[in-house]
Amino acid sequence: MRVLIAALAIVGFGISDVALAEDGFGPQPVAPASQAFKLGKLQLVVLRDAQIVLHNDAKVFGVDVGAAAVGEVLKASGLPEDRLTLSIDALLVRTGRRVILLDSGLGPKANGALIASLKDAGVAPESVTDVVITHTHGDHVGGLLDAAGGLAFPKAVIRMSAAEWAWMKSQQGAAALVKAIAARVETFTAGKPIAPGVTPIALDGHTPGHVGYEIVSGTHRLLDIGDLAHSSIVSLRRPDWTMGFDSDAALGKVTRKATLARLAKDQELVFSPHFPFPGVGHVGHVGADGDGFSWKPGVP
Ligand SMILES: [Zn+2]
Repeated sequence: MRVLIAALAIVGFGISDVALAEDGFGPQPVAPASQAFKLGKLQLVVLRDAQIVLHNDAKVFGVDVGAAAVGEVLKASGLPEDRLTLSIDALLVRTGRRVILLDSGLGPKANGALIASLKDAGVAPESVTDVVITHTHGDHVGGLLDAAGGLAFPKAVIRMSAAEWAWMKSQQGAAALVKAIAARVETFTAGKPIAPGVTPIALDGHTPGHVGYEIVSGTHRLLDIGDLAHSSIVSLRRPDWTMGFDSDAALGKVTRKATLARLAKDQELVFSPHFPFPGVGHVGHVGADGDGFSWKPGVP
């Protein structure tokens, strides 16, 4: 139970008192890794941070259908039925003179490997000009601070939606982080570009101001879906099941189904922070009953 609470605290609001699990569940350290690829003329790099192993106990996945139903979906994909393993990754985009990091991982308090992965990619934290945030759960903003509590990316502007910043400031567990980053935060309204080729897209339901990021170069497009979907298996096969981390579960389902349908139709490239590293690929339709989607991993 303690482990579950620690895991929920990390993926939920709090980023303090992060304890590494000892029984194979909860946040797990990973070896640093980076994977570069091109999107049109842009250079993108996926950066590995950590992974988290959750019990299949209907507290996060399949809250409305139960663990047995979730287990069936996992089993059909050849995976263990008792757990769900999620990656925690971030994406780096170089556009013009900007070096833009999309999300920041768990951070050093949880042994996140992001800074080491960044070094692996040949990027110094001081050279990051913008850290753009999909939402303010701990596995996306924990890495904004270094181990000493200072800014991990000292020269970067931190960008998030106005709604998300307002919500973050209302969360007691985020008070220390809010104080540390406040002077660097600039907010936006989704739908307008924040850098050449980078536009935040509202993906409602997960948190009050959750966004994805559309990256465009010429005719090439990629959507960083943030936490629209967490499991490349369960969230895609059954997007209509309640996700315990969504603040508005009903809205989360509607957004998840509509966005996955659009991505499958357009065959747009996708990056997911929580799908197996490097989390880049396409969404497909599941043929048999026409309901639900599949993940087709592959870096261009
Ligand atoms: Zn997340």
